[in-house]
Amino acid sequence: MSMWRETTQHERNRIIWEEELESFVPDQILDFHVHIWNAGVAPEGKPFSCGGHPITKYDFDDLRGDLELTFPRRNTKAVCFGFPDPTYNLVANNDYIAEHAGENDCFALRLLDPLNDTPDTVNADLASRQFLGLKPYPDYVRKPDLNEVTVEEMLPPWAMEIADAHRAIIMLHIPRRERLADALNQAHVAAYCERYPNTAIVLAHIGRAYFLKNVLGKLDHLREFPNLYVDLAMVNHWEVMEYTFAQFPLDRILFGSDIPIALAPGKSVEINDQYTYVTPVPWKLSISDEHRKLRFTSFLYEELRAIKKAATRLELDEDAVRSIFYGNGIRLLTRTGRGASHRAAHWEKP
Ligand SMILES: [Zn+2]
Repeated sequence: MSMWRETTQHERNRIIWEEELESFVPDQILDFHVHIWNAGVAPEGKPFSCGGHPITKYDFDDLRGDLELTFPRRNTKAVCFGFPDPTYNLVANNDYIAEHAGENDCFALRLLDPLNDTPDTVNADLASRQFLGLKPYPDYVRKPDLNEVTVEEMLPPWAMEIADAHRAIIMLHIPRRERLADALNQAHVAAYCERYPNTAIVLAHIGRAYFLKNVLGKLDHLREFPNLYVDLAMVNHWEVMEYTFAQFPLDRILFGSDIPIALAPGKSVEINDQYTYVTPVPWKLSISDEHRKLRFTSFLYEELRAIKKAATRLELDEDAVRSIFYGNGIRLLTRTGRGASHRAAHWEKP
């Protein structure tokens, strides 16, 4: 185990688990947001910077070991998808996930590249392979300014047609500077939810609302759509969490981590209606602790602390907490009626 992982292999995290988390985290955990990429998918000499720690792959063996050390004595499953970088080998990444997801207690989503994928390949993958949905990403639109990408560009209507025919899940990392608060994002997500009622859209990271003002009032319209979900991945902010638990239907909130990045040491913090990451080592997305003043734990343990604090303040009962960590996600995954037997889909070539 390499040292970037902040798990219970370190005494400092084992104490947090035992003193703060063990009595709160339920027995069954479905992590709805995990990135997996096998060796060879990332280009030579271009490792992923995991909170400032370069890693060349993160495969199912890594995940199994880390889940055990992160959630001791818990039964864990995960929803896994590749690493959405246009310079990575998307086909090799999707193939690896489709082939090994089942045997690792994982459910697979397929990376979607709207420029290079075709309706035929996407349809075939959802029809006959293990994939239960799609993972689009703003970078695949290949615009010089990522803030100008729209939901419809990263997730074109043809892909939604196919997703809807298969009752698929979309793991959506919304684009644009204002994220959840962006009016165009709100309009596109709402339009898709309405037009494609058989598709479940998951707003990753609560729509990337990592500071309070980004979420206030911004779930009011979206919560009406029964096929819209949020995941909690990388949100470390208890007030964002508390607001979401109070304002969004609890049965459509999904625990997710964003492993592997979530296992790196650090925390996401709000400063003056913005957010940044703080990490012990330099990272392009963070402010780093050059003076070594702080002792860190993982983003994931900070997320669990925030969930616990929000749930406690709202007096959520055990059932609600269990549903967020497991039941809601399992219901969503099995609602496709797929799992063991694939149902015939009605998508036809336009
Ligand atoms: Zn992610």
